[in-house]
Amino acid sequence: MSGRLLGQDASVLEAAGADVKALRALERQAVGTVALPAGHRVVDAHVHLGVDRDGHALAADDLVADLDAAGIDAAVAFPPDEPGPGGDFRHANDRVAEAADRHAGRIIPFCRVDPAVGAERAMQHAHEFGARGLKLHPVAQRFAPESDACVQVVRHATELGWPVLFHAGFGARPLGPAFAALLERVPTARLILAHGGRGDHRALAAVAAGYPDMVFDTSIAALPDLAALPPERIVFGSDRPYGDHAQALHLVGMAARVAGWDDRAMLGVMSGNLMRLLGGEGG
Ligand SMILES: [Zn+2]
Repeated sequence: MSGRLLGQDASVLEAAGADVKALRALERQAVGTVALPAGHRVVDAHVHLGVDRDGHALAADDLVADLDAAGIDAAVAFPPDEPGPGGDFRHANDRVAEAADRHAGRIIPFCRVDPAVGAERAMQHAHEFGARGLKLHPVAQRFAPESDACVQVVRHATELGWPVLFHAGFGARPLGPAFAALLERVPTARLILAHGGRGDHRALAAVAAGYPDMVFDTSIAALPDLAALPPERIVFGSDRPYGDHAQALHLVGMAARVAGWDDRAMLGVMSGNLMRLLGGEGG
């Protein structure tokens, strides 16, 4: 059997011994968990395009095919951990910008930087080429969210009108005080905390309570964390290629069911909350 399955090449899964037929049935069922009123958009807030140092890869054409299969209108995309020889993510950011040009309306480009390596210039360059936001990974690039270098980058992004998506959770250090300190210095920052801040969710949610523009993405998040948040603080995300769209949609469908979100709440989660942070009109 060929084609794509759960965001991967189905023949590779089959060669590895997976029951492709059963997985395909499950994928269809999972994608169907989220039912939106007609005419509303679904936007994925968290996708990596390119080739990570760890071997994970996603190409733009494959992403768009997967978006079509899952009924998703568009995705925010940024590089994986692919800083390049200069360490400034410049080429990886350029490739994301090119992909967004080729797939206009389907891919919303963010840039990624290392606050310690030419970040200001890299952001300015990405801005000129259409970037709409910034992705930061404190663990991969080894910096503290409240460090001077990071504060400066977040301040610059905020001046450009960009939201900043942070990898968050799963980490070794407590993040509540770190983000509280960052927001004290840049109170108007628009922050998207990835993975629902899994592992450190409660401390981060307590910080977010004081900042209406701090939200959490659902990618690889914990169901109880999502169900406990006000839905206007949640944006749908998949973390492709680490996550897949079917499981991402299923997770949000479960959270909606557990927390009893109405249509309005669901439309916010699936695109409206993100579009507000991007300075747009809503879902
Ligand atoms: Zn990610």
